[in-house]
Amino acid sequence: MSDWSELDAFLETDPADVGCDEAMRILHVYVELVVSGEDAAARYPGVASHLRQCGPCGEDFEGLLALVTDPPPEGVGRRLRKKLRGGR
Ligand SMILES: [Zn+2]
Repeated sequence: MSDWSELDAFLETDPADVGCDEAMRILHVYVELVVSGEDAAARYPGVASHLRQCGPCGEDFEGLLALVTDPPPEGVGRRLRKKLRGGR
């Protein structure tokens, strides 16, 4: 009785997959959305689904995300901290 779950799995694998070219084209925008706390997956569901399914693109995404988030730009961090402290 796994007919329905198989169908579900099939549907889930390719709802709106944009493909490698399109995913790579939007990747930097997508990463920026993620970093700024936006719901990137809701904005670009096709890219989100592609990154989940495509190994190489998923790795590119992880790499870019790490690159953007790992070394926090000092100026921004300081300003943000000041802002947070000032807001309280
Ligand atoms: Zn891909």
